Amino acid sequence: TAFARTDAVEPKIHSYITETREQALNQAAAVDAKLTKGETIAPLAGIPGALKDNICTKGIKTTCASKILANFVPPYDATVVEKLAANDFVLVGKTNCDEFAMGGSTENSGFFATRNPWDTDRVPGGSSGGSASAVSAGQAIWALGSDTGGSIRQPAAYCGNVGLKPTYGRVSRYGLVAYASSLDQIGPFTRDVTDCALVLNAIAGHDAKDSTSINAQVPDYTKALVKDVKGLKIGLPQEYFAAGIQPEVAEAIQKAVAQLKAMGAEVKEVSLPHTQYALPAYYLIAPAEASSNLGRYDGVGFGHRAPGNDIIDMYKKTRSEGFGDEVKRRIMLGTYALSSGYYDAYYLKALQVRTLVKQDFDNVFQDVDVLIAPTAPTTAFKIGELSDPLAMYLQDVCTIPLNLAGLPGISIPCGFAQGLPVGMQIIGKPLAEATIIQTAYAFE
Ligand code: GLN
Repeated sequence: TAFARTDAVEPKIHSYITETREQALNQAAAVDAKLTKGETIAPLAGIPGALKDNICTKGIKTTCASKILANFVPPYDATVVEKLAANDFVLVGKTNCDEFAMGGSTENSGFFATRNPWDTDRVPGGSSGGSASAVSAGQAIWALGSDTGGSIRQPAAYCGNVGLKPTYGRVSRYGLVAYASSLDQIGPFTRDVTDCALVLNAIAGHDAKDSTSINAQVPDYTKALVKDVKGLKIGLPQEYFAAGIQPEVAEAIQKAVAQLKAMGAEVKEVSLPHTQYALPAYYLIAPAEASSNLGRYDGVGFGHRAPGNDIIDMYKKTRSEGFGDEVKRRIMLGTYALSSGYYDAYYLKALQVRTLVKQDFDNVFQDVDVLIAPTAPTTAFKIGELSDPLAMYLQDVCTIPLNLAGLPGISIPCGFAQGLPVGMQIIGKPLAEATIIQTAYAFE
């Protein structure tokens, strides 16, 4: 049925850069064989899933939606892929995204834009737009994305599904092509919270190959699937309901919160005073890290190479041809912020702000168990509507602070505004994925 859905909707939606049907059929046959032999199979066995195309898959093209990696076939699997393989997974495709995960609409893909299944004139969000659209359109039952500043939660909100960004370090980044290494996390897109817990069970855990991976016990997240929020302390950060939030979005969240309150949760307003500085700090830190991470695409080790008169000419042509405008913009911004004379004024200042943002969260989490906020300030916008990069960056105000602080967050559907899905964000303490899953499940 996933293939049938893809045959029907892919020409309109364009979720995939690469479909992997043959691989999927082989994996499904292996599951069948196990069943025939009477062997036990994992909870995800045989369930079609998709991976964002910045997650390395051995023998399968991994492009990051960039022309510079258009023909790159990794020689190894990301740790999450190995873990999914141990869960008898079935991979149906690699999904479209903004080039190197830089963007919020999937319009920055070096190949084509993906469309929102709810309204094909609108964006699916981004950067993991193809993963979100594939799940919403029924082309995959689950998908993985990566979230550096909101790229799982925001597209999940726009496409009306569940998206979870784990605590930084909860899921291994080994084999995730780096955008901003201190912020990137892999996480699931699913249709409901139960599936979210199942996929997180499969991918979470310590990995010696990722030095930032946390060495802590992974709970069974399905144990959090209980309809109980009695006594749960919910904080509503007032800065996230301020001007700039579409009124219908704020209303839908308030309604959902009222429902949780009726179920026995305690709700109070809280303040995260440095919220307004998070966005500018992110747009210095992320490009700074990106400018360094993307230095490796020089036409020598792998990926696209343009012919040149000498090595410098070859570098220049390769990178000019291979990278799109947004990627180039970020490399320039990041290089500038890191250059001597500007480092203290920009990069170092941004790191100081990052600490203040983290302290805001530490303070409120003395008093509350979870925070609830909009995932994005508006519902999905029209393709081409936010052509000004700054306007696009502003879509990330509600998601970026969590990445700066390393916290887990889940976006779940909480109603509609003018026919388009609204996402509610539930934010947890470090490693409290089970708490946000429990809150989400109670509301669902
Ligand atoms: N929209 C943000 C950016 O452009 C977030 C992207 C992401 O999380 N990968 O950087």
